[in-house]
Amino acid sequence: MRLLSPEWTALAYLVAAVCFILALKGLSSPRTARRGNVIGAAGAGFAVVTVFLSVRLENVPAILAAIVVGAGIAAPIARRVKMTQMPQLVALFNGVGGGAAALVAVLELGHTPDPWLRVAVVFTMLVGAVSFAGSAVTVGKLQELISTRPLLFPGMRWVMVLVLVAALVAAGIVIATGSGGWAIALLLISLAAGLLLVLPVGGADVPIVISLLNAFTGLAVAASGIVLGNVLLVVAGTLVGASGTILTRAMASAMGRGVSGILFGAFRGGSTAGSTTMSDRPVRSSTAEDVAVLLGFAERVVIVPGYGLAVAQGQHAIAELATALEARGVSVDFAIHPVAGRMPGHMNVLLAEANVPYESLKEMAEINPEFKNTDVALVVGANDVVNPAAKSSPGSPIFGMPILEVGDAGQVVFLKRSMRPGFAGIENELLYDPKTTLLFGDAKASLTAVLSAVKAL
Ligand code: NDP
Repeated sequence: MRLLSPEWTALAYLVAAVCFILALKGLSSPRTARRGNVIGAAGAGFAVVTVFLSVRLENVPAILAAIVVGAGIAAPIARRVKMTQMPQLVALFNGVGGGAAALVAVLELGHTPDPWLRVAVVFTMLVGAVSFAGSAVTVGKLQELISTRPLLFPGMRWVMVLVLVAALVAAGIVIATGSGGWAIALLLISLAAGLLLVLPVGGADVPIVISLLNAFTGLAVAASGIVLGNVLLVVAGTLVGASGTILTRAMASAMGRGVSGILFGAFRGGSTAGSTTMSDRPVRSSTAEDVAVLLGFAERVVIVPGYGLAVAQGQHAIAELATALEARGVSVDFAIHPVAGRMPGHMNVLLAEANVPYESLKEMAEINPEFKNTDVALVVGANDVVNPAAKSSPGSPIFGMPILEVGDAGQVVFLKRSMRPGFAGIENELLYDPKTTLLFGDAKASLTAVLSAVKAL
């Protein structure tokens, strides 16, 4: 039974679409992100209820059962996931969305006699399946279930060309004939294409590919909206496609890389995994008390947080340390690199959790000229984002990425557990610089020890 007339349905979809746009607007700033998220979720819930009230659905109990099972699996995973595992979670949910769109398209093929409309069916299948398989690989890489290095095999380039040609042929046949058998073939070829596209991507570039695949899923969902004649799917899919594309470009440019270099760099020999060989050159290591003296008697300290701070969950300790230093009259700022951590805005979210005031967070362009007037740069669990190889080593996988110029500060203190490299897998010359001091240990434990020592000064 249809409880809503087409007019009311259109109005309800408009309300949901406005919610999605307000959600994106909210997500553009850490201050409003939480509210944006709630508005987006409310819009999605409203849209689902609208569908139940406006479309004559078959198999309602099966649909409700699927919703309950899906929500029952997803909600506990989302609640339990660690902040540092968020990119994997996003990739997983996004991939499943692409896969679902592809399956819906296969089922809709039988109800789509118009060959022109079958173009949208084929597009949904192809892009949705690529997104599903590609996302599965990114989850495997980020969870380190498979190697984070670029995975290549001899002749892979030609296999990719072959798969691409096979996909085009199968797509053409499905559009022309509507054949179910060829549709299954297209689905399998597209899954293979998704695997082949992402396997050669290595190390630091994986989160960018997640964002790219997110845009793919958006486009697949928009095309499925055309197939199903559902305007809201077209709107929501287009929003996801457009915002995913913008995010992909922003992340790629923050890392000084082009999207094609990220996807196909490994074929040109520009591996993104880097070398993990470590040198045994001496470094200057220090105690928490010595670091406390350096910080406590400085005029200006800039703290550079990175992925390791999130792993150690040291955000509260770092906020307390900043407060203790400020109480001594030391000026303290936080330098935020756009790709510090493992997802855009990671450091902002982390520090917001510990109520570090937004005014203390300085973006790269603002803080870089300030390092030469800084007595101590305190690098906590960060590595790649301060690695001078990005400027000085043309062969390096991070070459071209803008970095925080901590080397310009009077002294540099690194808090990390070992001499292991960061995500890109390359050595950091700054660790061996005479002006650098290392305090080895888990960031939270080190920060707590430095804090007590500062208080005892
Ligand atoms: P890195 O991965 O370069 O370095 C993290 C450092 O933290 C390591 O040196 C590690 O050394 C240390 N560490 C890990 N755990 C702890 C701990 N418990 N206590 C103390 N130290 C710890 O992180 P950055 O933030 O500097 O750089 C981010 C990387 O991620 C870049 O390569 C960036 O390109 C990539 N990336 C980020 C994206 C984003 O959106 N943020 C997206 C795409 C890629 P040790 O093991 O010795 O302790």
